[in-house]
Amino acid sequence: MSPVPSDGAVVIEVRGVRKRFGDHDVLRGLDLAVARHEVVVLIGASGSGKSTLLKTMNLIERVDDGQIFLSGDDITDPRADADSIRARIGVVFQHFNLFPHLTVLENITLAARKVHGWRAPDARARALELLETLGLGAKAGEYPDRLSGGQQQRVAIVRAILTEPEVLLLDEITSALDPQLVGEVLDLVRELKRRGTTIVMATHEMSFAREVADRVVFLKEGVLVEQGPPEQLFDAPQHPATVEFLARVR
Ligand code: ADP
Ligand code: MG
Repeated sequence: MSPVPSDGAVVIEVRGVRKRFGDHDVLRGLDLAVARHEVVVLIGASGSGKSTLLKTMNLIERVDDGQIFLSGDDITDPRADADSIRARIGVVFQHFNLFPHLTVLENITLAARKVHGWRAPDARARALELLETLGLGAKAGEYPDRLSGGQQQRVAIVRAILTEPEVLLLDEITSALDPQLVGEVLDLVRELKRRGTTIVMATHEMSFAREVADRVVFLKEGVLVEQGPPEQLFDAPQHPATVEFLARVR
């Protein structure tokens, strides 16, 4: 059951990324490389830039300066095709954003068919198999409003991984859930880690970060202040800002 170790290949590389909204410097020259099979967890106060960083990786926000590479391709190149890049990245946000008028199966297969051009029977078979192995098989024909928030979020994750994206970006995926529903979503993330999914995740769940992360990255005001394996970052932080942040959230 041990997680798949990284093979060292870099999936996402962020180089000197800057992002400003008006006169507010939200990302101030960030560097971050994520290896294949690695789980990187972003922590930091609200407003520190975690979501903006994830959005630049998915081209929801354009960088003002710097570059981001996906498996070596410069996705920040203005000539890069945003749709084909996004098709290589799985994303799940705080709010599940399932289509209410589509069943679970239809939600999950939509992008596979429309964006990736999968044939409907293939998309359906793969989706059913994935739902089954992840404990959601019985929900395939349900509409989202018949599911709990935890189930909806698990469906959103299944949708994001169906086409085996190179990296999965998860932004505070448990923060809109009732506390008793958080566990089942975190269980699914554990399972994805076990399967070797490359994940970059922003979370407030410090105990989960400690458990699941290969590396924890602490952001403060758009600066990467400190990073390291969870035991180092949580138990022996080197930077006063990290110490102060951890004292507040624990
Ligand atoms: P985090 O996810 O760490 O809480 P965010 O990346 O959401 O931080 O936000 C970082 C800062 O950027 C915040 O001050 C936020 O208000 C600001 N910000 C984020 N998105 C926008 C936007 N589209 N327009 C203006 N300001 C934004
Ligand atoms: Mg955020």
